[in-house]
Amino acid sequence: MNHALFAHDALLPTGWARNVRLQWDGAGHLTQVQADCTPDRATPQALGPVIPGLPNLHSHAFQRAFAGLTEYRAEAQDSFWSWRTLMYRFANRITPDQLEAIATWLYTEMLQAGYTSVCEFHYVHHAEDGTPYADDATLAQCLLRAAKKTGIGQTLLPVLYQTSGFGGAAPVEGQRRFIRSTDNMLRLLERLKPLCDAQGARLGLAPHSLRAVPPDALREVLAGLHAIDPTAPVHIHIAEQTGEVDACLAWSGQRPVEWLLDHAPVDQRWCLVHATHMSCSEYQRAAQSGAVAGICPSTEANLGDGIFDMPRWLSHGGAWGLGSDSHATVNAAEELLMLEYGQRLQGRSRNVLASATHAQVATAMTLQAVAGGAQASGRAVAGLAVGQQADWVELDAQHLALAGLSAPEMLSAHVFASHRTSAIRRVWSSGLERNNTLAPEFIAQAATEFVAARAQLLETT
Ligand code: ZN
Repeated sequence: MNHALFAHDALLPTGWARNVRLQWDGAGHLTQVQADCTPDRATPQALGPVIPGLPNLHSHAFQRAFAGLTEYRAEAQDSFWSWRTLMYRFANRITPDQLEAIATWLYTEMLQAGYTSVCEFHYVHHAEDGTPYADDATLAQCLLRAAKKTGIGQTLLPVLYQTSGFGGAAPVEGQRRFIRSTDNMLRLLERLKPLCDAQGARLGLAPHSLRAVPPDALREVLAGLHAIDPTAPVHIHIAEQTGEVDACLAWSGQRPVEWLLDHAPVDQRWCLVHATHMSCSEYQRAAQSGAVAGICPSTEANLGDGIFDMPRWLSHGGAWGLGSDSHATVNAAEELLMLEYGQRLQGRSRNVLASATHAQVATAMTLQAVAGGAQASGRAVAGLAVGQQADWVELDAQHLALAGLSAPEMLSAHVFASHRTSAIRRVWSSGLERNNTLAPEFIAQAATEFVAARAQLLETT
């Protein structure tokens, strides 16, 4: 069965178009994107500009439960590493029911905030004492169920984690729930592949970082993944902290990105998450590898990581996308705003991320973040084009921040001048309206279960 929507303005991969008819099939794929149409009575009309939904390319769902709880000074100089201590406390206590409750609420929030799919970088695998669950895919299935219940698209990225530092340092107690052998990881991937396929999710792999995966294991797990799915996405945390760069230099004589590019087959399947600290030649080589830079502006700001050099990355033709990572912020437009503002502060200039073809910054950023996010997701979520998923956001043309403006100005106002979710009218994922059609009872129950799960975790940590 075909479904259709008429939009007076829609942001296509090539730019803004007028009088666009969107048509999609029962499987949620766009079958027609036709500009310059005449509206007909039978086709429902959007009440504002239609923009592509943003793939969220980096998520650790459970971390939503302690968003806001690490915003106080505990040491003379708080750092990423002191944040990580609290994260480990939560990671070591969380139960399957709690994880599912937190992820279900988080994915509901994402859909309400303009994300239509999510890459879940999933590293808590085992029971609290570190022993595997009877069903080794227990926690992964909690995340798959959360995606299915809410209707958000998902790329599931089970994480390989083996060591606590460069050079094969043994894992520490706080990492006991993360650890898997390479064979064990490949068996998990084989178990998860049909489960993902059955619900339209994509399965990939995330070697956690060069700190956590020794060279031999990286080589072996990539070969095993290739046998399961040669086009599967591969995501890795790569250079988030200067301490990590220094440790990598001490271990190998190379910086992390440099080492990775010399020792792994990095290409378009790869997403380099937090490639924050790169040399000039690393920027050039990583961009030219075809990999996507996974940028998480709110988390990188929250953790004091540093600022990615977007102009340099773009000068080499680099692809990029956005993730909400630790979920201190769950808001697609706000990530765009923070990314642009970080660049302005760094470069003491304005409209840094406007492109040669799109002078409007919000338009240029949205198109690039959707393209890069789709590439990193390994799913057909690359915007309003035939064959892609019917994933989009309908803005509210009557919102005070938008009323009377042109469509490109409305998107700018949505990102820079509204409360950044308030101008969202409807969100569609896989051809179904999601943000308003999740039943109120479902949303209320998801919220209640999230609050209960957080309270339980706080009691036990
Ligand atoms: Zn991360």
